[in-house]
Amino acid sequence: MTSTTKVPFVDLVTMHRELESELLAVCKRVFETAGFIGGPEVEGFEKEFAAFCDAKYSVAVNSGTDALRFALMAAGIGVNDIVITVPHSFIATTEAISQAGARIEFVDIDRRSYTMDPEKLRNYMETQCALDSRTGNYVHKKLGKRVAAVVPVHLYGQMADMDPIMELAAKYNLVVVEDACQAHGAEYFSKKQNRWLKAGSVGQAAAFSFYPGKNLGACGEAGAITTNDETIAKKSAQLRDHGQAKKYYHDVEGYNGRLDSLQAGILRIKLRHLAKWNEQRHAAAKQYDSMLAPLSESVSAPQEMSYSKSVYHLYVVRTESRDELQKHLTEAGIGTGIHYPIPIHLQKAYASMGWKEGDYPETESAAKEILSLPMFGGLNENQLKLVSDAVTQFATASVAK
Ligand SMILES: *Cc1c(COP(=O)(O)O)cnc(C)c1O
Repeated sequence: MTSTTKVPFVDLVTMHRELESELLAVCKRVFETAGFIGGPEVEGFEKEFAAFCDAKYSVAVNSGTDALRFALMAAGIGVNDIVITVPHSFIATTEAISQAGARIEFVDIDRRSYTMDPEKLRNYMETQCALDSRTGNYVHKKLGKRVAAVVPVHLYGQMADMDPIMELAAKYNLVVVEDACQAHGAEYFSKKQNRWLKAGSVGQAAAFSFYPGKNLGACGEAGAITTNDETIAKKSAQLRDHGQAKKYYHDVEGYNGRLDSLQAGILRIKLRHLAKWNEQRHAAAKQYDSMLAPLSESVSAPQEMSYSKSVYHLYVVRTESRDELQKHLTEAGIGTGIHYPIPIHLQKAYASMGWKEGDYPETESAAKEILSLPMFGGLNENQLKLVSDAVTQFATASVAK
């Protein structure tokens, strides 16, 4: 943040100042017991977070990336498997898939929601895969691997269109692991079940990140798996702790992926405020929506789909003059971000996979046109107005040109 910053992209200072005495009390409690890894803070957080997500179990780990990797592995995904996700996400989504041993495959996003397009998933399964009647699994015709799982990403705080995804997963025998790293508290209206479902309660398992900037953030690294499946919960708990269920009895080779009790204690305090912060984000988003509505020709607001209650992890506008808009806002002292500028399939890290420009056009066009405006719990009227005025000024000036 420079001295000319009028509205930061995200403000993590104010919130912690407000909670300071409660957070320091947690540190004191943990120092007194010196139980730094695991223990009652972690178990308490797991219970409370599972309840928040309407899930039976939660397994706390040390990052969202590990949560996703352990969830996949615990669900039986490994070498010779294909996991389908979207190329419009943070690279952690695909890192978790490859590091679980599986092969990444993509389907493109829906243009309006920025999440997995179920029709493209259907098309992928129908055209590229065939039933192996011996095993009952679907196998990719060219790659010769089992299509084992799908990872919809609830991007920007909005859940993917889960009814059709769950239906396809049931039809094609796929495990569903939600990447809910940006969607703590988001909801989806399931027409099939005629009720709202919470992120983290829909697939066989889900992964959450508590990276500091997320809707629920630790003061360091943290993550969690949620699931209703006892076996997945147990296996994930084993994987995070060197493959042991009992100390020094290692049933499998695992990882050092535990959550520490300081972070767990901090997360328990912050979890109590999460619903309120999510409401503040939602209210701020609706205010942005109405202030930006007149500009829809040049700068369009994000769409909250009819099936969705978004928690607006990010507020992402879209314009063909994205780079110019970003420059204009930076000069006006307004922080912005691009989530994400390079689609995963075009990252250098995956050059050997043979993906190329043109493979996933919706993702590619989004990457060129999206811009994330300031968004955080506690974003105030004055800040909202400064941002909206600056965007409006840009849009009217560029129309006049
Ligand atoms: C943040 C994030 C992750 C990874 O979480 P970490 O806690 O940083 O490991 C995974 N997927 C998405 C979509 C994310 O935004």
